[in-house]
This record gives sequence, C-alpha cells and structure tokens, in this order.
Amino acid sequence: MKPAPFAYAKARSVAHAIELLGADDARLLAGGQSLIATLNMRLSHPALLIDLNGVGGLDGIVSSNGHLEIGALVRHAQAERSAELARRAPLIALAMPHIGHPAIRHRGTIGGSVAFADPAAELPACVLALDGELAIAGPQGSRAVKADDFFKGLFETALTARDVLTAIRIPAAGAETRVGFAEFARRHGDYAMVGLAASARADGKQLRDVRLAYFGVGSTPLRARHAEQALAAGDVEAAVRALAQDLNPPDDVQASGTVKTHLAGVLLRRVTRQLEQAPP
Ligand code: FAD
Repeated sequence: MKPAPFAYAKARSVAHAIELLGADDARLLAGGQSLIATLNMRLSHPALLIDLNGVGGLDGIVSSNGHLEIGALVRHAQAERSAELARRAPLIALAMPHIGHPAIRHRGTIGGSVAFADPAAELPACVLALDGELAIAGPQGSRAVKADDFFKGLFETALTARDVLTAIRIPAAGAETRVGFAEFARRHGDYAMVGLAASARADGKQLRDVRLAYFGVGSTPLRARHAEQALAAGDVEAAVRALAQDLNPPDDVQASGTVKTHLAGVLLRRVTRQLEQAPP
C-alpha cells in the first residue's frame, strides 16, 4: 500500500526540528525503518514528516566523564562497527546483531529504536539494563530522563509531541562490569518472542547491582526485580522461580504467557553464565 499524502520538511538543527514540531500532527523521521512501514500500512497518517537526517551533531559515539554518549542518529550498523562502543558498552554490542537484518541496521537509528519503544525491541531493554538515561531536547530546553522512568506503556515514552531524543547516555563499562544478552526469536533477525538484557558488577565471585531487563513480555521492557535480588544473593534457581512474581506475559501470536515465562527462566540461566564470566 502507499502512504496517505503528507507534507515533508528537512530540519536544519534540533532547534529547527522542535520549531517544526509545533505544527499539527507532525512526526519526526529518522531511519524510517518503523515509521515508513506504519505509513505504508496506513496505521499512521501524519500531516507533516520532519526529516532529522540532515541535522548535524547527532551521529557521534563519544566517551566522557565515565559515560558513553550515543547520538540519536547513529545507525545500528555504525554502532555495530564501533570499537569504542564494543569496549564501553559491550551489552549493546552483543544485542546489535539481533536487530533485524543488515539492510535494516544500515538505515535504522539508535534514537528511532528507543523513541519507537517497541516492547519486543532489543535496545530499549539494553538501555534499561545499563541504567542509562535519555537526553531530550524540547521547547523548554534540554533534560535527561532515566531509562527506569522513560518507558511508560505500549509504544509510549516520556517524549512529548514537541520533543527530540538527542542521545542515549550510559555508564561506561569498567573492569568489574559484567553483561549478558540472549533472546528467543522464531528466525534470527525477527523481533524477539522473549529476550533478556542484563548487567551487573562483579565483586569477587559475587554479582552486585544486578539489573535484568526483559523484552517481549509486556507492554514495555521490564525489570525483574525479585529475580535481581535472588541473583545478587547467588541463587540462580530462586531467581528463576522469582520470575513468576516479576513477569506476567500476555498470550500473543508467538506464544502463550506460560511458555514465555518458561523461556524467560531458560534465558536467565544462560545469561547468568555470561554474567559470571570475566570479559576476555
Ligand atoms: P523511524 O522509523 O524513522 O521512527 C520511528 C519512530 O520514532 C517514529 O515515531 C519517529 O517519529 C520516532 N523518532 C525517530 N527518531 C526520533 C528522535 N530522535 N526523537 C524522537 N522521536 C524519534 N527493531 C528491533 O529492535 N529489533 C528487531 O528485530 C527489528 N526487526 C525489524 C525487522 C524489519 C523487517 C523492520 C522493517 C524493522 C525492524 N526493526 C527491529 C526496527 C528497526 O530497529 C528500526 O530501525 C527502529 O525501530 C526505528 O528506528 P528508525 O531510525 O528507523 O526510526
């Protein structure tokens, strides 16, 4: 199908994009890998598309003050190739090959993925697992929102209709950082049936500050907080049992909620083995 007619404007800067967003029914366009599909299927019909692709300064991957900042217009493929990202954000490097296929990763952006907030997407869960924050520019200026407060509901975030997500910011990995990532998908590159992104800090043989972010199990990426506590106490099987308290996945076209909860436990055992290993 073809999209409904829309007007098009190319933003020159973040400030210009915010100004253009003042129009009725305007929508930002980044990589277009989700938005264009929804337009073509007529699931959405904005009056104005504001193209961010010409905006400078949003495509860097920069380390400073113990953080890694990834610009919103960084393409998945660029992130996948970045040595700095692999060193400072190994969890995102692990997740990247699971996002769609090379053609999609060539165009799709980090910012688009987080702003779109598909509950089965890899990156929102990674940002949550890493205790990251989202840098947002809006008519009232700039602000940062913690990932724990950013994902509000199904495809709903802390972004307002006038906001531009400019970057994601995460604590840079250090020698004690441990990460793990695994997902079940029917075919490699499909959205996950169930996935798990995890981070922790190694303290001798103990895991501290465990963060388990599941995706594909609810309307947003979800922390499994009881399981996190059990894992930090060193009891993997108690952590698996605790998932019954933490998760209540609805049945969907891929699997029943019961199957998803079972798969979440399988992923937790696999990811725990990754967390327990020091990086090479
Ligand atoms: P766009 O499609 O341009 O925009 C998406 C939404 O985000 C729009 O509402 C737009 O207005 C908004 N937006 C974009 N940028 C900003 C910004 N800077 N500030 C505020 N709002 C913004 N993704 C996965 O995570 N896992 C998968 O397995 C996966 N498989 C895919 C398979 C196929 C066949 C396709 C077509 C896509 C798949 N994707 C998958 C989606 C892909 O990752 C997209 O790149 C991503 O969801 C959106 O990024 P984008 O840059 O293309 O955003």
